[in-house]
Amino acid sequence: MTMNTVGRPTAPVPTSDYIHPTLTGGRGLLQDEALIFELNAWAKTGVDIPDADRPADDLAGLLRTTPVGLPGLSEPEAVRHYVRLSQKNHAIDLALYPLGSCTMKHNPRLNEKMARLAGFADIHPLQPVSTVQGALELIDRLAHWLKTLTGMPAVAMTPKAGAHGELCGLLAIRAAHEAGGQGHRKTVLCPTSAHGTNPATAAFVGYSVVEIAQTDDGRVDLADLAAKLGPDVAAIMVTNPNTCGLFERDIIEIARLTHDAGAYFYCDGANFNAIVGRVRPGDLGVDAMHINLHKTFSTPHGGGGPGAGPVVLSAALAPFAPAPWVVHHADGFKLVEEAADEAAHAFGRMSAFHGQMGMFVRAYAYMRSHGADGLRQVAEDAVLNANYIKARLSDVMSPAFPDGPCMHEALFDDEWLDGTGITTLDFAKAMIDEGFHPMTMYFPLVVHGAMLIEPTETESKQELDRFIHALRLLAGAAKAGEVDRFKGAPFHAPLRRLDETLAARKPRLRWRPETIPPLAAE
Ligand SMILES: *Cc1c(COP(=O)(O)O)cnc(C)c1O
Repeated sequence: MTMNTVGRPTAPVPTSDYIHPTLTGGRGLLQDEALIFELNAWAKTGVDIPDADRPADDLAGLLRTTPVGLPGLSEPEAVRHYVRLSQKNHAIDLALYPLGSCTMKHNPRLNEKMARLAGFADIHPLQPVSTVQGALELIDRLAHWLKTLTGMPAVAMTPKAGAHGELCGLLAIRAAHEAGGQGHRKTVLCPTSAHGTNPATAAFVGYSVVEIAQTDDGRVDLADLAAKLGPDVAAIMVTNPNTCGLFERDIIEIARLTHDAGAYFYCDGANFNAIVGRVRPGDLGVDAMHINLHKTFSTPHGGGGPGAGPVVLSAALAPFAPAPWVVHHADGFKLVEEAADEAAHAFGRMSAFHGQMGMFVRAYAYMRSHGADGLRQVAEDAVLNANYIKARLSDVMSPAFPDGPCMHEALFDDEWLDGTGITTLDFAKAMIDEGFHPMTMYFPLVVHGAMLIEPTETESKQELDRFIHALRLLAGAAKAGEVDRFKGAPFHAPLRRLDETLAARKPRLRWRPETIPPLAAE
C-alpha cells in the first residue's frame, strides 16, 4: 500500500474477499466493458457508404492500404457501449451526491430545455453581432444578476471554470498593481484550509504563496494575517464561507487589513451557494470573486464537463477586466473586443470567444425561475440541510467544529474511528456498497481524516434521512469491529480499489493496438 502526501492510502488493499468475484467481471446485469478500440471492430464499418463514383486509381500512391484505425461499430453496438459506460458513472440524477465543496445540486430540466432553443444552441461565435442580439442580451442580463447578487460593479463572463476564474482575478490584480507602480508585489497569502486551486493559480501567475494560519475554531488567524501582510503582498485569497463550512466572521476586518497593506482581496466564491441572496460579497470588501455557475446556479458539472466561472470585480479592478464584454447602446447589444477606449487597460482575454453560452442560458433560467426570494431560500435551505446532517450524525461521528452551526456543509474528522482500524477511505468505500456516493474525503487538509458532506438544498428530508440512516448503520458496524466490511470495500462496485496516485502520476492516455490488422478485402 502506498500513501500520498497527505497520508491517504491509495493503492489497492489486499483483503479477504467479502463476496466472491464473478467469473466474467460483470456484476448484477452490468457487463464488464472494454475500450471502444478493443471491441474488434477494425475491419468493419457501422455505416453503409456508397461506392465512389470516380475510379480509386486517380489517387495513385495515396490510396490507403491500412485500416483507418477507427472502430466501425454498428448502431446497437455503439449505443450499448456508451450506455454501459454511463451506468458505471454516478450521477446527480441517480442519488444524492454529497461531495463537499462541489455543490452537486439537481440540474432542473427547464434549464436544459432553454439551453436547447435554436437561438442559443445553434449559433456560431463568429456570426455577425447583429444576428445574435438575443444571445448577447442574455449574457448582459446574466451579468446584471451576478453583479446585483454580489454587489459588485463589473463582471468578466468568459472564464470557463472556478480555477480559470481565479486565474482571471489574479491577472486583473497583477495588471492593477503594475498600473499603480506596485508590480514588485510578488506574494499571495492563502489560508491553510484553501482549495488546492488557490495556491496553484497564484504559482501559475508567478506569485510565491505564503500560508495564513487557522484558529482552533476553523477561521483565518487575524494576528497571523496581519503579521504576514506587507509591501510584498499582492493579494490574499480567502474562501467564504470557508472550506471548513464556516463563515469567516472577521471578513470585514480581513478586507480592511488587506487594503491597508495595499493588497487586493480575492475571494474564492465556490461556496456562494451558502450566502446567495443573504450577503453581498461587495459589501464585505471583496475585490474579485469567481462564481461557479456549475455550483451555485445549478448548471451540470463533474467529469471535467463544461463549467463557467464568471469573476465579479470591484471598481478598482474593473478597468483591467479581460475582453470581450457586452455593452448596450441605443442601437442594440455590442461586444467590446478591441484593447482601446473603454478596454484600453484590459489585461487580455481568457478565452477565444465569449464564454460558455450553454451554461449562461442554464444559469439564467435557474435565476429567473427562482427569483430573488427563491435564491435567498436556496441559501437558507442549503444551510438548514447541512445543519440537519450535522445534528443527526454528531452522536456517532465526530464533528470537526462541534460548537455552533455550520454553513452549507457539515465537516467531520476521523477521531470517532480511533481504535477501529478503519480509515476515512475505508468508510467512504463502504458507503459505495450501501448505494451512496462518498462525501469529499481528506479535504480540507487542516482536519485529520476529513469527511466533508454537502447535501445542497435540492435534497428532501426523506432523502437526507435515508443517507443519515446508511451512515449511522455503517458507523455502528465500524464501532462493532466489522473491519472486513470496510477494509475490502467496495465489494459491489465494478472495480474495487484503484491506485489513484499511480493513475494521476502515470496516466495511460493513449491506446495502441498490439498489431494493426490488414485491410479487409471487400
Ligand atoms: C470547486 C472549487 C474550486 C474550483 O472550481 P472549478 O470550477 O472546479 O475549477 C475552487 N475553490 C473551491 C473552494 C471549490 O470548491
